[in-house]
Amino acid sequence: MKKRLVGLLALLASTATFAATPWQKISHPIAGSPQSIGAFSNGCIVGAHELPLNDPRYQVMRQDQRRYFGHPDLVSFIQRLSNQSTQLGLGTLLIGDMGMAAGGRFSSGHASHQSGLDVDIFLQLPKARWTSAQLLKPQALDLVASDNQHVVPRLWQPEISSLIKLAAKDNDVTRIFVNPAIKQQLCLDAGAERDWLRKVRPWFAHRAHMHVRLRCPADSLECQDQPLPPPGDGCGAELQSWFAPPAPGERPPKKKTPPPLPASCQALLDEHVL
Ligand SMILES: [Zn+2]
Repeated sequence: MKKRLVGLLALLASTATFAATPWQKISHPIAGSPQSIGAFSNGCIVGAHELPLNDPRYQVMRQDQRRYFGHPDLVSFIQRLSNQSTQLGLGTLLIGDMGMAAGGRFSSGHASHQSGLDVDIFLQLPKARWTSAQLLKPQALDLVASDNQHVVPRLWQPEISSLIKLAAKDNDVTRIFVNPAIKQQLCLDAGAERDWLRKVRPWFAHRAHMHVRLRCPADSLECQDQPLPPPGDGCGAELQSWFAPPAPGERPPKKKTPPPLPASCQALLDEHVL
């Protein structure tokens, strides 16, 4: 399938409002040794850990949604990244959705974040901590200009580049999704060291946050990784194709019905959701 069509499909999936899903009924992690199961957009997790909610280095937004669970590798990654950004004086990390207690499909928002290996992090780094009211109704900062091709210079800070670069250089991270305009700015800002840009992937939306995805943990035998991104910094023709107008007659494909759940996830639902 052409990249643009894949993208349109993902756009449909990521912005659609899903019906209530049985996964929301599981409010606590499934006991067991941590296992990420299935694909990022069709999976679940056993033995998820909760991200500690009180930490001087980061803050967790929309805690009422209870989307702060993940594989322990994800919790460690967030702690590691917030440690590094605190040491560099970048500001406080604002953590958005991770996954639900047993992973699985959200009723709204995204198609992925299902196997406990994805996290959204705001691309703003406040120097003062947010109040609990601000955390409950976070104000996203739209970094992309109305032409959809550039970032807003007034809002773009070098700290944002530094944060994305820190995340991309982490060994457990395989992909970071940001808006094409943000990727373009990173391409402009990066000096001679450009290897990390390979992991930063242009994607629809993602105007105010980055979506970080980790590799499958080695002992999660049913976890499905994605192929590596294409070699290179991704700043050339591929990125430019995002700014080109759609070809005449190009239409979004019809939405596909989601594939069946991995057997282990279905078994988990059968056991835990009546
Ligand atoms: Zn996300």
